[in-house]
Amino acid sequence: MIRAQDVSKYYGSKRALGPVSFEIEDGETVGFLGLNGAGKTTALRIFACDLRPSAGSVVVGDIDAVKNPHEVRKRIGYLPENPPLYTEMIVDEYLSYAGRLRQMSKQQIEKRIPAVLEATDLTEVRNEIIGTLSHGYRQRVGVGQAIMHEPMLLILDEPTRGLDPVQIVEMRNMIQNLKDNHTVLVSSHILTEISETCDRLLVLGKGNILASGSESDLAAQMQNTARTIVAVKAKEGASSEEVAKILREVESVSEVSIGGMEEGATVFEVLSGGEVRAELCRVLVGGGHDVLQLARNHRELENIFLKLVKDGGQSSARN
Ligand code: ATP
Repeated sequence: MIRAQDVSKYYGSKRALGPVSFEIEDGETVGFLGLNGAGKTTALRIFACDLRPSAGSVVVGDIDAVKNPHEVRKRIGYLPENPPLYTEMIVDEYLSYAGRLRQMSKQQIEKRIPAVLEATDLTEVRNEIIGTLSHGYRQRVGVGQAIMHEPMLLILDEPTRGLDPVQIVEMRNMIQNLKDNHTVLVSSHILTEISETCDRLLVLGKGNILASGSESDLAAQMQNTARTIVAVKAKEGASSEEVAKILREVESVSEVSIGGMEEGATVFEVLSGGEVRAELCRVLVGGGHDVLQLARNHRELENIFLKLVKDGGQSSARN
């Protein structure tokens, strides 16, 4: 468990963060979401023991990160915004060097490197000079150094920054796999880049936590409405109106509208007070209908996020 209690950071008289308080459970993947200058890097650097808070306490596991940063650092892997790469080194050599910095033995390093190369999908470039790699590969090398010593907590500051759309998907998949072995804190200023990977999002604005919850929790919090798009191929003889009726009966669904046809399926838009995708799927399949697509409306969530950060959380966001 990681616990931040009344943590704040000032640079001179300028407040960059806080006071903020929150807890993160072991094994959770939490996304820090906010526009530039929101305080994401400051928060992550404090967790990584790269920066001392001006006030407040941070506990990682049972260890006080302010009083005992050295012990906490041993348990943390950190990918800063600008990865600390030695571009003239070969990937293998660099990972080995990162292991030595973490006081791993030669045997431990030799055993660990193949696993790290596999987790970061770097095996094919293991003998390449880092400086000759694309930005996406370099970013993965940065993640590689962070996981060499198998830390319990992995902190990734904007790992998707500057990546092209294909590399973003690859990075997302990599984080998804890393979740199995680490508690992960990851930051971004783009909701869709991290929302699917994270169990929970902390939305930061001007150093404050504006909202916290899963993507659909946030949507529900902000508008009391989550919007889901369902494409249904109704069973033989059933009308779209009959399908809509089934959807309306799901708890917390407030509105169902019938859209057009897409590839032989009718598209329904469902408004609800929270996450209903699993239940929608259950009732439709239970009623003998085929579900061809089920998705939350991302554009709307992006708008909600923008509204949250623009309002500075003063309208309806929760602290
Ligand atoms: P970005 O996405 O641009 O990195 P961020 O959400 O990570 O933004 P921080 O880097 O944590 O935000 O910065 C929070 C605030 O603190 C900003 O207003 C920033 O200008 C300020 N700040 C950060 N580092 C320093 C510093 N070393 N000295 C003075 N002010 C700083």
